[in-house]
Amino acid sequence: MTIKHIGVVGAGTMGNGIAQAFAVKGYGVTMTDVAEAALARGMAAIDASLERLVKKQALSAGDKSAALARIRTATRVADLAAAELVVEAATENLELKLKLFAELDQTVAPGGIIATNTSSISITRLAAATKRPDRVIGMHFFNPVPLMQLVELIRGLRTSDETYAAVEAVSKAIGKTPVRVKNSPGFVVNRMLCPMINEAVHALGEGLATAEEIDNAMKLGASHPIGPLALCDLIGLDVELAVMNVLYEGFKDPKYRPAPLLVEMVEAGYLGRKTGRGFFSYGKP
Ligand code: NAD
Repeated sequence: MTIKHIGVVGAGTMGNGIAQAFAVKGYGVTMTDVAEAALARGMAAIDASLERLVKKQALSAGDKSAALARIRTATRVADLAAAELVVEAATENLELKLKLFAELDQTVAPGGIIATNTSSISITRLAAATKRPDRVIGMHFFNPVPLMQLVELIRGLRTSDETYAAVEAVSKAIGKTPVRVKNSPGFVVNRMLCPMINEAVHALGEGLATAEEIDNAMKLGASHPIGPLALCDLIGLDVELAVMNVLYEGFKDPKYRPAPLLVEMVEAGYLGRKTGRGFFSYGKP
């Protein structure tokens, strides 16, 4: 099957980045979200991101307009019927994704592939919510999607070779470098990255150093381009907490215990850049 039309579920941080990455490379994209306001925010983010590329002369103004014209928005899953590949990038919540997968299974044509950008949920489990587990796969992009090279391709227990090959080809076609990963909590990158961020929050909570000092220490002492707390603000504290909980429950190992300060900040609504405040302040979201 030729993949020409992509469905993206969720117009948030990742969804709009994924929509942009496909649209720039000539794919038709339908991006859905639960509300028009979320779609408008997603489209504004894509516009701003493309404009930055135009300013850097990495994209022509004409290519920007063409990419924007390739993206349609919709509020119903039913509007994704024409997509040969759907990438689900809705909120990281198991119940929500199970429901979405059952709905997508009803909507997407029988030969179509349903991929998920989940950071932490078992691909095999999501696949089992459909009648096409062979055509379900993890397609885990990194933030910001238009700039990050990697996509982890996660095979569920029943993902077929054909599905893997099709998604690998499409990943390369949009300029990404795919890495094949077994279905396991946190896959590769988050299995290592999220515990490191969590440790930074433990350190902050214990008063080991200030947020600025912790981040500077890792930037200057470990050559990290961004400190772990600033990175957590970028990823979203709620997403980080969800991943830690999945690692903790998935491996039943106390070394993955979420830092109490992380839990409390999420309770307070300090989710990072997207709410204007996390470990650092960003003004308006
Ligand atoms: P986000 O909160 O920025 O966006 C999620 C969007 O999904 C919101 O706009 C929300 O309205 C929408 N949504 C909720 N229910 C929906 C539904 N039923 N149908 C359509 N849209 C719905 O979250 P995000 O950071 O973009 O994360 C999305 C997914 O990507 C999650 O599974 C997350 O684990 C994963 N992910 C996130 C990152 C990251 O750095 N933020 C990186 C890799 C993967």
